Amino acid sequence: MKELQQKVKDEGVVIAGSVLKVDAFLNHQIDAALMKKVADHFYDYYKNKDVTKILTIEASGIAPSIMAALAFDVPCLFAKKAIPSTLTEEVYATDIHSYTKNKTSYVVVSQKFLSADDKVLIIDDFLANGEAALGLYDLVKQAGAECVGVGIVIEKSFQQGADRLKNEGLDVLSLCRIASLEGDKVTLVGEE
Ligand code: 5GP
Repeated sequence: MKELQQKVKDEGVVIAGSVLKVDAFLNHQIDAALMKKVADHFYDYYKNKDVTKILTIEASGIAPSIMAALAFDVPCLFAKKAIPSTLTEEVYATDIHSYTKNKTSYVVVSQKFLSADDKVLIIDDFLANGEAALGLYDLVKQAGAECVGVGIVIEKSFQQGADRLKNEGLDVLSLCRIASLEGDKVTLVGEE
């Protein structure tokens, strides 16, 4: 997706050689028009998969996911990183290690929002080592639901996440693929 790739190159800031800060349009301030185009790309790719639910993880996955939910006309469910006192029903739960925070979170979704009838499209802002997406896939499997694919806004292709997801047989679509952040410079796949 050319517009996204250009935005990543123009506005992304490289931190510590392997983390990209995209606070200007995705992780803090959100470019809603860009998120709509991101969602339209996910829709085009997965539209024949009978998606019944978009699943993501709070907080940064929510912006592209809610736009995708609108495109597919299905609910957007986000996994919570803590059990709030208002969540009184049974949950599906898994542990997810955060690449950027170097911290493991116990992540939950209510069982009433995910069932064996669901065809789930997982969406997240970044794919690095695949922990978040594989954790969400674990929740889908616990529910006995089907995962029809994983839509990623920005994939860091120099990390192992994409291979790990593909090894699980998952259909991954990444709209912007980064080959390297070396020298504090964003190099996209195809530009090396
Ligand atoms: P993974 O679980 O695939 O290792 O990492 C993906 C998760 O970590 C995403 O949910 C995202 O929030 C965060 N993440 C990983 N790498 C980056 C990065 O370079 N920049 C930002 N902003 N978030 C990242």
